[in-house]
Amino acid sequence: MQLNQDQKRFFSECYNSIELYQDLSRNMRITEQNIEELWDDLPILDKTDIVNNQDRIIYPPAIAKNLNGTLHEVYTSGTTGECLQVTWSYGDARRSLSSLWAVRKQRFDIAPPERMCFFRASSRSCNSEKAIFEKVSETQIAIYKESVTLESSSRIHNLISSFSPVWMIVQPSIIQIIISAWKEKGLKPPKSIKYIECTGEMLSVPEKREIEDFFGCQVMDQYGTMEVNSIACSCECGKMHVMDSNVIVEVVDKHGKTHREGEGEICVTSLTNRSMPFIRYKTGDHGRLVSKTCSCGRRGSILELSYGRVNDKLIVDGREKYLYIV
Ligand SMILES: [Zn+2]
Repeated sequence: MQLNQDQKRFFSECYNSIELYQDLSRNMRITEQNIEELWDDLPILDKTDIVNNQDRIIYPPAIAKNLNGTLHEVYTSGTTGECLQVTWSYGDARRSLSSLWAVRKQRFDIAPPERMCFFRASSRSCNSEKAIFEKVSETQIAIYKESVTLESSSRIHNLISSFSPVWMIVQPSIIQIIISAWKEKGLKPPKSIKYIECTGEMLSVPEKREIEDFFGCQVMDQYGTMEVNSIACSCECGKMHVMDSNVIVEVVDKHGKTHREGEGEICVTSLTNRSMPFIRYKTGDHGRLVSKTCSCGRRGSILELSYGRVNDKLIVDGREKYLYIV
């Protein structure tokens, strides 16, 4: 593993000062000098490890920041239903998303103030019988995934048309329901939408093409998790390029050995979260890394996903938590 000097210093400090990493790496004597060569033997964590040790994985210098109110939490649940609280500093969270925002700006001319809608599970606490969406801010609405049905498709069409979003973040299965319902009812897609970002599930090439054809706009596939934010996004050739400035991606076999070639479990290291460091963390997804150069000309690793996660749904203490990384 190739790390720069700052990463060597930071990760070795994590193994020497964070309780959970200290426990897992006992007797390894990890230093700034040897961390690169020891990397493949460093412990691999999964969600259960983190859930069971949430208060033992904060980088000590970050605790003071928490007292100053410069940290915040996001929550994720996923398929296992285990609630995971991820702590970020505002600066790290912004840095973590900067490469995804750069792609949105460069390729689709999308910037944060633009009007957008996204789809997520409803919250029992704030969801009345008939509510199909929630206004998150002046420029964002969240449409509840459960309300996307053939019956409600005209309501959703009216809602999106009147809100006039410039872009959407949506799960492939949800946009498929919308497209077939709108086609059946003869409803045209709102003209305001110029970009659609698919996330949370695998997006096949025919599905992507169908969305592009129906909406007459550009579509990108984005793979990420609440724990580390964006991991990879698709290029013009349909390949998933790793967000190298945000994460290190590895593929490991069932014994935790690094797979240079071949399929295995995807394991990520956050390069940006310095409050709650995720080092060699298994996302629960499978795939493989491809080293050949893509015809789009971009360098760096390409990730081929084997199958996607079922997307997150969460209520913490009866309160809705926003799961999207917009
Ligand atoms: Zn490419």
